[in-house]
Amino acid sequence: MNLTMRYILIVLGVIITLHYILTLTHSSYSEATSLSSLTSHFRGGSSSADEDKSAYDTRPLLNLDPDVYNNGTLVHDPRANATFVVLARNTDVDGMVRSVREMEDRFNRHWRYPYVFLNDVEWEEEVKERLRVLTTAKMEFGVIPKSDWVQPDWIDEEKATTGRNKLVEEGVIYGGSVSYRNMCRFNSGFFFRHPLVQKYRWYWRLDSDVHFHCDINFDPFLYMEEKEKVYAFTITMYEFEKTIPTLWEETMKFAKLHPEYIAEDNAMGFVSENGGSTYNLCHFWSNFEIADMDFWRSEAYMDYFDYLDKKGGFYYERWGDAPVHSLAAALFLPKWKIQFFDEIGYEHNPYTHCPQKEETWRKGRCSCSRQRSFDYDGYSCMSKWDRIQ
Ligand code: GDP
Repeated sequence: MNLTMRYILIVLGVIITLHYILTLTHSSYSEATSLSSLTSHFRGGSSSADEDKSAYDTRPLLNLDPDVYNNGTLVHDPRANATFVVLARNTDVDGMVRSVREMEDRFNRHWRYPYVFLNDVEWEEEVKERLRVLTTAKMEFGVIPKSDWVQPDWIDEEKATTGRNKLVEEGVIYGGSVSYRNMCRFNSGFFFRHPLVQKYRWYWRLDSDVHFHCDINFDPFLYMEEKEKVYAFTITMYEFEKTIPTLWEETMKFAKLHPEYIAEDNAMGFVSENGGSTYNLCHFWSNFEIADMDFWRSEAYMDYFDYLDKKGGFYYERWGDAPVHSLAAALFLPKWKIQFFDEIGYEHNPYTHCPQKEETWRKGRCSCSRQRSFDYDGYSCMSKWDRIQ
């Protein structure tokens, strides 16, 4: 090999080596750059490519780690003294998970209002874990004191059994159930006094297996506080008369004893066709409620609840918390303090309220059918509500 040939080979070797080195440098540079842009987008930037690489290797690509995410501007501090209240059993866990998941997706991921879960027995650890994983909002789990739940001793058990058997014979839903009656009495007169709930003023009742069909782009608690509303509903319907044969009569007796509790401009026209002689059975469907607990804690409502409780109708008949809450709201509040939230698409099997206004339905990206909304179904009381507006 002559000198020229040897020279050419050396130059070629140098070129190949240089090219190899350059290619290596470039590929690790571009990898570092793309990692850096990815991670800085999700984590607020980083100082070295090595750090970025380890972050990329160990973290999910879309870093929606709740703490990182919630420190962003998307989350508002809750500004109302409010909580969700969920009364349920351990066996309702799948339905509770579905309800909380939807509540978070449609509303609470922006607000992080806390939850209180109440049960008549201890909560199982697995239930708590399955609920806690859904959100970083505060969750508290409470047990209801026996005295607020079970049938009181002063109830005449023979009379209660006769009442239950009668409703079973008549085919009334939950007619024979004592636990359903405990639940209705607890929701009527005790949940707002539970130690975990006591510290809050506002609550949103959340039952298991319900659906929220629209984005809730506002804070209903703050809306109510600002507008001085007290009770809000989405669905109203007729009650089964067989479950409350004496409720109206007792309510009217109470009203006569306490005329001072009856509000001027109340919603009597919603619940009666004849100025109060008879009850038309209209009530707000209480599995959805947003309300001011100061109202339930007021002298008027506490006296009303105690009066009804002493009559024993929660056990001798099957008085529901829905008509009890509704009659109190209709009589003790001026009607303008009761709020119908058209914009909250809500479903509790078998009924759905879907926003009636098209613009509201679009803005809320609602998953319900406006045509199939319960509002003007023959069994709905919405037309009675409309007539007093
Ligand atoms: P409905 O809506 O009138 O059919 O009544 P549900 O049976 O759905 O009860 C209403 C809510 O109370 C649901 O969230 C139930 O999980 C809860 N609930 C009903 N009965 C009991 C009970 O015996 N114990 C507990 N802890 N929760 C109950």
